[in-house]
Amino acid sequence: MIGLSSESSVSGIPFRKIVKLFLLSVLIAAAGFAPTAAAQERSGKYTIVIHGGAGTISESMPESVKAAYYASLKKALGIGREVLAGGGTSMQAVEKVLRYFETDPKFNAGIGAVFTSAGKHELDAAIMDGATLKCGAVAGVEHVAHPITLAKLVMEKTPHILLAYQGADAFAVKMGMKPVPNSYFDTPQRKSELEMWMKQIKSHDHGTVGCVCLDEYGNLAAGTSTGGLTGKLPGRIGDSPLVGDGTYANNQTCAVSGTGIGEEYMRNAVGFNINALMAYKGMSLKDAVHHIIHDVLKPGDGGVIAVDRKGDYAMDFNTTGMFRGVANSDGLFEIRIWKDK
Ligand code: ASP
Repeated sequence: MIGLSSESSVSGIPFRKIVKLFLLSVLIAAAGFAPTAAAQERSGKYTIVIHGGAGTISESMPESVKAAYYASLKKALGIGREVLAGGGTSMQAVEKVLRYFETDPKFNAGIGAVFTSAGKHELDAAIMDGATLKCGAVAGVEHVAHPITLAKLVMEKTPHILLAYQGADAFAVKMGMKPVPNSYFDTPQRKSELEMWMKQIKSHDHGTVGCVCLDEYGNLAAGTSTGGLTGKLPGRIGDSPLVGDGTYANNQTCAVSGTGIGEEYMRNAVGFNINALMAYKGMSLKDAVHHIIHDVLKPGDGGVIAVDRKGDYAMDFNTTGMFRGVANSDGLFEIRIWKDK
């Protein structure tokens, strides 16, 4: 039997030293995990911001329509707040809110998605985790009821970030998502918008949905889901599924979801640039968002919602309105459509 006295040795290294090295490595490993462990403690502070699209929104819409929009936004915000207040993560809240919107026919995501010029629906979505910079996105899916969930699966189950068209639809089936016929997304409202568009009466139809959150663990997340723009060419991909354009999250700065003319958001890398103004110029979230919306984009292009890790938030737009809402752990719960008077 080998005695484990302090004089014992393995390959000439005294046993005492081996024990010390072992304890040191345990300490180093523990230190390495410390930030994660700390991040798991609940701070009691959370913020959630949602949007249901920006564009030409007439203030003279019938009261019943207005009330229906307010009710839907309230419902969506309530769903997200409940997840965060219950200790859920920002990623969970974003997905749950956007899944709700994808079933509400008033919004341009899932059921109620706009039509392409070919009279079909091609859906885009993205989700991003600000803690890890992990992200997933899908573009041009035609048979997926919940594109936001498929985007999250791309993030979790593949080494890729963006899957498009048949490949994305096939991946959904592989993940066990039951395909829906393309007509599942049809609504009479979007059909008449396509008819107007064909008669050259073009307006920016709103209804893209987005959600950004700060959870109690200090982590940010962003997600966006959309049918794109009415009358878009088949094959057109907008800003929403492009990380850094319509969707972006980074714990160091902010989480952003945009809505508007996607091409302008892509040209100006809106999500990434709001983050960059904060990271490299030290701007506040509100100033960075204001600069991009009012000095970089043009009037009528759209809006963004954003939140930073302190829980400060922005909901800014250069259109007549943006369906939006914000709630936080201090009891704030606000729904808005037009500019604050
Ligand atoms: N940004 C979306 C797109 O261009 C549309 C929107 O937000 O209304 O696809």
